[in-house]
Amino acid sequence: RQPSNRTPANYQHPKQGQSVPPHLLRKRDGLLPIRKALPIWPQAATIKAALKKNNILVLTGETGSGKSTQVPQFLMNEPWCTKCIAITQPRRVAAISLARRVAEEMGSFMGSQSPAAKVGYSVRFDNATGPNTKIKFLTEGMLLQEMLRDPIMSQYSAVVVDEVHERSVNVDLILGFLRNLVSGVENEGNKKRTHPLKVVVMSATADVESLVAFFEDRQASPTQGQTADKPAAQREGALARDEMTKEAEASRVATCFVEGRQYPVKTIYLPQPTQDWVESALKIMFQIHYKEPLPGDILVFLTGQDTIEGLEKLVNDYAEGMDKDVPKLLALPLFAALPQHAQQRIFQPTPFRTRKVILATNIAETSVTVPGVRFVIDCGKSKIKQFRNRLGLESLLVKPISKSAAIQRKGRAGREAAGQCYRLYTEDGYKTMEERTTPEILRCDLSQAILTMKARGVNDVLNFPFLDRPPREALEKALLQLLHLQALTDTGAISDQGLKIAKFPLTPTLGRVLVEAAKPERDCLLDAIDIISALSVENVFLNLVTEERKEEAEEARRELYRREGDHLTLLVTVQRYAEEETNRKLWCEKHFVSHRAMQNVMNIRKQLQQQCMQLKLLAKDDAQDQSAPSEARSQAILACMLRGFISNTARMMPDGSYKTLIGNQTVAIHPSSVLFGRKVEAIVFNEFVFTGKAWARGVSAVQLDWVSEVVEAIM
Ligand code: ADP
Repeated sequence: RQPSNRTPANYQHPKQGQSVPPHLLRKRDGLLPIRKALPIWPQAATIKAALKKNNILVLTGETGSGKSTQVPQFLMNEPWCTKCIAITQPRRVAAISLARRVAEEMGSFMGSQSPAAKVGYSVRFDNATGPNTKIKFLTEGMLLQEMLRDPIMSQYSAVVVDEVHERSVNVDLILGFLRNLVSGVENEGNKKRTHPLKVVVMSATADVESLVAFFEDRQASPTQGQTADKPAAQREGALARDEMTKEAEASRVATCFVEGRQYPVKTIYLPQPTQDWVESALKIMFQIHYKEPLPGDILVFLTGQDTIEGLEKLVNDYAEGMDKDVPKLLALPLFAALPQHAQQRIFQPTPFRTRKVILATNIAETSVTVPGVRFVIDCGKSKIKQFRNRLGLESLLVKPISKSAAIQRKGRAGREAAGQCYRLYTEDGYKTMEERTTPEILRCDLSQAILTMKARGVNDVLNFPFLDRPPREALEKALLQLLHLQALTDTGAISDQGLKIAKFPLTPTLGRVLVEAAKPERDCLLDAIDIISALSVENVFLNLVTEERKEEAEEARRELYRREGDHLTLLVTVQRYAEEETNRKLWCEKHFVSHRAMQNVMNIRKQLQQQCMQLKLLAKDDAQDQSAPSEARSQAILACMLRGFISNTARMMPDGSYKTLIGNQTVAIHPSSVLFGRKVEAIVFNEFVFTGKAWARGVSAVQLDWVSEVVEAIM
């Protein structure tokens, strides 16, 4: 394990056995009354008793009632809890900020080697855990990776699955694996746990009934796990025959409900629907600011990083022009890819005579509780992943949210006092929203999920215990996709290559690119890592609003542009940035590149390099030496891209349009591409974007015969 440097810079690590410095203890003691006032506090004894008797607890409670921060602390000293407690989060921001908070509440260090470092976190491309970590926050993806390495989860006494109501694909997989694990269905290599694993399933809104039924189904036949289809009466009969051994009793599912505190929130709708909700948001924000007294921060729900950054700039520009006697307005972005220090700013107290405006994605819906908010502005939309079975493509679409999400968003305004929620849609618009958000597993590409299942030894994916069974068509599409990537063999078993791909915290497509790039005949792994790092953040190039600025940016970026397309342009950008030693921020400004995004890119790049070393795809010395790619290497890089993105290839038609080779869908090169307006015989691209028509974004030119060759090989 790496020693961590996550503690503050002015901090002296106590040596082994030395006690915690007094200021941490003071902080801890100061937070105790706040913890005691949380709605969950009086339920500590109930929760402990439930888990003493049972192995599974379904705990529901409103956002902010203290589930994520308190439950692990309640459990950590229980006699059965001799090892670590894992708490999963759908997002890295939440995992990190919760770990920090819990460390503060316990007067503990974070993730260091010190015996006093009881709290840590593990998120993709960032690990802050130490040998004494007792409470570990991790993203769902990281827990799944750990489950692949250690199927019986031997380092944990308990797993707390948080935010289950979000119903990400990963949560559904985790629940399925845990169900099999606690019921003894999965017993890989005949290894058995010495103590039962305790499982806590937590959610803000979830349907308790279905979760309980999901976990209890197995009771009819605790060893087989094939009971899902048996009628209830038969299951009960089987249960009676089992004579309810002590173990069976412990595996009953306990439930607990924590009532939250909520002040009234007034809802204000737009009288007319609007297309331009960014402008509406801006207008309402300033209205609130001029009209409403302090304190009272504003939380704005937007769709993604680009809209957030655009609005952040507008707010700052307008705020600069405000009279001196008007309080200040402080815009703070909050989205998943935001670097840590920027995330922490939302938890800091609002400065004197200032109003905070937090510009967030749906991350602030239930995952992160932002203090001080009295006003919510809800654009009524969110970006969701949607898989189109017919086309075999997944894309990010901006879609209306569900009523239950709208209610959650509104609730954020009434946590500390009565509040107001401005909905940037009409009341009729609200009425047409779906009741609930469709679980991700029913609408997204399942290839990563299935690869994970296969890597965990689940061969019959069609009969896996899913909380909601995905359509058969989607499962088959995903299997086919994995076959195309050669992650599965012809018989559907996982291939050696597939096992490698599953070990990367990347989509199978990107994992496949890396595995290809590591082959001696390609020899371009470092370049592929650079490109994939850049693809893993939302926007490397700043999104510019005015035509004039766009032209300026074009000019400044020209030296980075490569005629082969966007992938090599990204590569050049990453390499130049990395070489820039004096002032990277200035370099970014000069080239209209997002410094924030590039900091993330560098971090991801380092982690991917390390991971490739661990998988023995890369030798340590290699990572130091990287030259600008020659013509031949550029071609090798694109060939690797092609190997992963084979579904995202298109050829030019006689009329100059492009049609995908698989699926025969018409696409156009997105205006953000360096290839926009150029005509090339074939393209490979990262993603489809649908705005009015189908666009290919992140595009490179490739030779048609290469594409045909790869397509033919897999068809
Ligand atoms: P739940 O899981 O029920 O939504 P949490 O345990 O996340 O509740 O939050 C309980 C309280 O702790 C909330 O009032 C929240 O504002 C506060 N809190 C959580 N994380 C942080 C943090 N990083 N900094 C400051 N306060 C926090």
